[in-house]
Amino acid sequence: MKTNKKPFPLSTVSAANGIRQRIDTNPDFQRPAVWSTSQKQLLVDSILREYDVPKMYWRKLSSKPDRYDVVDGQQRLRAIWSFVDGEFALPANAEPVDGFATADCKYVALSDDLRIRFDTYALDVVVLEDTDENEVREMFLRLQNGTSLKAQEKRNAMPGKMREFVKSLTLHVFFQRVGFANSRFTHDHVAAQMVCLELAGGPVNVKDGDLNRMYQSKQAFDAAGKEAKAVQRTLALLAEVFPDKTPELERYNAIALYCVIAELQRAYVVADIKADLHAWFLEFETRRRVQDALDEDQAEPEWVSYKERISHSTDAQDSIRFRMDFLMRDLLTRFPTLALKDNQRDFTYIQKLTVFRRDHQLCQVRLKCEGEKVVWDAWHCDHKLAWSKGGKTTVENGQVACPACNLSKGAD
Ligand SMILES: [Zn+2]
Repeated sequence: MKTNKKPFPLSTVSAANGIRQRIDTNPDFQRPAVWSTSQKQLLVDSILREYDVPKMYWRKLSSKPDRYDVVDGQQRLRAIWSFVDGEFALPANAEPVDGFATADCKYVALSDDLRIRFDTYALDVVVLEDTDENEVREMFLRLQNGTSLKAQEKRNAMPGKMREFVKSLTLHVFFQRVGFANSRFTHDHVAAQMVCLELAGGPVNVKDGDLNRMYQSKQAFDAAGKEAKAVQRTLALLAEVFPDKTPELERYNAIALYCVIAELQRAYVVADIKADLHAWFLEFETRRRVQDALDEDQAEPEWVSYKERISHSTDAQDSIRFRMDFLMRDLLTRFPTLALKDNQRDFTYIQKLTVFRRDHQLCQVRLKCEGEKVVWDAWHCDHKLAWSKGGKTTVENGQVACPACNLSKGAD
């Protein structure tokens, strides 16, 4: 990397037909503009008083004509342009500068002396040449150290293929359907969490530290590989299930539903219920809101637990696990005939849980008992119609069997 520090007069930087057209203030690792008017006014005031403005860093992308990415200094640059374009005035209570009034002044209303002072003010710009994207991102990270940059903004500045892959996911149509805005890269954040969940094969911690580690350890991530395709397949089904913008798709729901849909695709004959998933989820949310409106001692305890899990620590493994199981159990209760791929013999954990709750833990076989109550550690999920006789491994064809009845019933 070659660095070259040079002064750029504001008139050069601001000329509408000049270099300004070729400066990109919003490369994807930068944060969206967040400066308030008073911050912009303060910068202009500093320039008029000829105070020192911190160095900017631009990366030169090409020559003749020169093109630049702003690595550091985007907000300042935008504030300068905005002032020159007459988009804001100095504050009504602004102190005069060297005897010249500035209160309420827009750029064109400044006295000639001040405007010349503004136009000839030289920005210190460090131009980075012969550098690659990763080097620039590394530099941006270092420049931003100690500022209030949010975790995802830092991750967007990390080098590597994982960052690129997550970025590409945010363009997926599903993210146009979600109920949360993309302020400060929330879509990138959620997409990164989805990838993290996919790599783990299910619920796992997806806090900032976990995502940072993923970006670092998967710098060589294969965007055409098996895991990448699995993420895209799940997003595609999510987009199919949610064809319109859906306010209920809040952040915590997007993550839990990702796990549910991924599990459905992995283990179940999902085509059978695909068309009904949309209605199921909206009904689920309706029931949640009804429960939510009740006093805690009136609401069903499970919904109270669910409410806790969506209220805080939503990125923790046990919270995601709980929400996924809760949604899956609700789904299997609603679609009891949902079958496993290839009619596998063993019930899944969630199918068992659903059967266990549906049968109120009571043995349904009653060959050796009168409907004994079983405990989770000692019961058998029995095929009503034996699997060997073509019975399906579904919630509908499952039932609670106590150990004695299960032994007595014999081959399943
Ligand atoms: Zn029994």
